Amino acid sequence: MPCRTNEELQNLVEEAKREAPAGKVADYIPALEKANSSDLSAAIFYPDGTCYSAGDIKDQFTLQSISKVISLALALMDRGEEKVFSLVGQEPTGDPFNSIVKLESHSPNKPLNPMINAGALAVTHLIAGVDVTERLERLLCFIQDLTGNHSITYNKDIAESEFETAFLNRALCYFMKQHCVIDEDVEELMNLYTKQCAIEMNSLDLARMGCVLAMDGVDPLNGRQLIPFHIARICKTFMVTCGMYNASGEFAIKVGIPAKSGVSGGVMGAVPGRFGIGIYGPALDEKGNSIAGLKLLDIMSKKYSLSMF
Ligand code: GLU
Repeated sequence: MPCRTNEELQNLVEEAKREAPAGKVADYIPALEKANSSDLSAAIFYPDGTCYSAGDIKDQFTLQSISKVISLALALMDRGEEKVFSLVGQEPTGDPFNSIVKLESHSPNKPLNPMINAGALAVTHLIAGVDVTERLERLLCFIQDLTGNHSITYNKDIAESEFETAFLNRALCYFMKQHCVIDEDVEELMNLYTKQCAIEMNSLDLARMGCVLAMDGVDPLNGRQLIPFHIARICKTFMVTCGMYNASGEFAIKVGIPAKSGVSGGVMGAVPGRFGIGIYGPALDEKGNSIAGLKLLDIMSKKYSLSMF
């Protein structure tokens, strides 16, 4: 039975933390640069409601790319598989998350999967609602249900900082607009997308969200099916094939669980049928994954036999 005390998890965190000095916090979104590169916190959430945590669990961080899993679930619930996958593919790219190259070289000109920025932008464009305010509100309510934390909101400073500097994401949007993948105003979409990425929580909230995915979309505490079974399955499959940027293959071999990371240093893990994991460690490796977070997952996977393969 993996990790049943805070002390046990704390020991693993201390060991993994030694990797942090080799990483670097993301700085292409200026507000993310303020993070403390030596931080590492982690939480595990079991379906019976027990949870364990280590490090400074009060640390809040923005979801960044982790939000792409949740926006995908919502867009699939809103529009159905056929519509979503008519605009976004299902294949890993092997390219960095913000790469534009395959949008042009691949035919048809639709993004290859929902975990790269182009695909995530196309997915966010599909979230239903009359305007950005309503669409954001729906996404926030969904995330509040998934975490059981109804105070969750987005970080305005980080959203603004990304909105002001997201030229590459705007380029991806204009390219997709030209090719009829998206049909909304690019600034409106960027407004929603940057707020989505800036949704803020702590490792414990993230672990609980991971636990819902691990339990096939069911809230373990009240039995509500928050995400339909087949959609939770799609989300977890993308987490395995593309969740850890262009290191997803290596991660599947080393750790072997569905996981999604973000450039803030967050990582959400879902150990199928067993528990959720939330990690925050802002020092990143060259692919954009939390360097100490990866180490921690590697240690945990070996110690507790977590790999599903
Ligand atoms: N908001 C970030 C972007 O679009 C998310 C990237 C990430 O976490 O991978 O660049």
